[in-house]
Amino acid sequence: MTSQAETVTVRVPGKINLGLSVGPLREDGYHELSTIYHAVSLYDTVTVQPADDWSVHVTGPWGDRVPADASNLALVAARTLARRRARRAKVDPVRIDIDKNIPVAGGMAGGSADAAAALVGCRELWALDHIENDMLEGIAAGLGSDVPFLLHGGTAIGTGRGEQVTSVLARGELHWVLWAGEDLSLSTPEVYAECDRLREEAGTVPGTPEPSGELMAALRRMDTDAVADALHNDLQDAAISLQPVLSEALAAGLDLGARGALVSGSGPTVAFLVGSQTEAIDLSVGLAANGPHGDIVRATGPVPGAQVVHHRNSPEPYRALPTPHRPGPPGPVTG
Ligand code: ATP
Repeated sequence: MTSQAETVTVRVPGKINLGLSVGPLREDGYHELSTIYHAVSLYDTVTVQPADDWSVHVTGPWGDRVPADASNLALVAARTLARRRARRAKVDPVRIDIDKNIPVAGGMAGGSADAAAALVGCRELWALDHIENDMLEGIAAGLGSDVPFLLHGGTAIGTGRGEQVTSVLARGELHWVLWAGEDLSLSTPEVYAECDRLREEAGTVPGTPEPSGELMAALRRMDTDAVADALHNDLQDAAISLQPVLSEALAAGLDLGARGALVSGSGPTVAFLVGSQTEAIDLSVGLAANGPHGDIVRATGPVPGAQVVHHRNSPEPYRALPTPHRPGPPGPVTG
């Protein structure tokens, strides 16, 4: 029987896009895209527990930028799963607590990450059977383009509007320094609109987006310099056009020895690729002293997607799933 004290805690990473090719605008308002997602060791922690009413509470460094109401994506995810499940079993409301470390509106899919974590947490809390488990992927895709990837994590190709995910075999580890400008945020639809505007102005007609063969080969070898050379984001010019400080941040990191750099997704987080943990420490210290003002965090990738890390009062002892990737130290540094 479920007791009021039962809690499930899920850890979920943010993502960066190692490659992002944006195709033409589709009739449904989305752009066709091809991306290579990469989950990095910067985590939100999401805890779910049975409660009298549905609610969400957000703490942590980015907590005050997240809506703590019915629009919160974690709550939307839990309620969507509950509605689907109600056809088969009675579902009690849950209280969701989010410890928010992934930059908000930063191009790291933090909202989608929390949605994926809420699905995984409720799956565990409600002990879903295999039929309901199969619904999870479909629900995830309906919630947002990045949610299916954040259920799995690792490194993966995303196609369609990003929701069709295929894992990429990439052994080894990449070291990153992430820069999130203070008081900087970008709305994803505005960045796509700016990309369309810049393309129209330049007379560029986008073709069918495809994953970069060069990037895939570099990832297979896990050759840091080759990955650095192949990093690519079609939205970068649009993000810089809306937030010119991003080009200053990119230049500062490259001057300080980053092997490669790019704006993550729709931005404005900037990801710098370095060769080792030592290089990551050097770069984060250099950026804090000489780069534009912002939060600077070291991370590694790839790491697994949303995973249960604690289940209190479980009727069964919790057995962790095998971890396909070794998470690295998050190592926050002040900016
Ligand atoms: P993406 O790259 O997936 O488009 P993003 O990483 O740029 O998104 P998010 O951090 O996911 O941006 O936040 C986008 C918006 O979603 C925020 O401005 C916020 O108002 C809203 N939001 C709703 N729920 C959450 C949540 N749990 N965490 C973060 N943002 C949320």
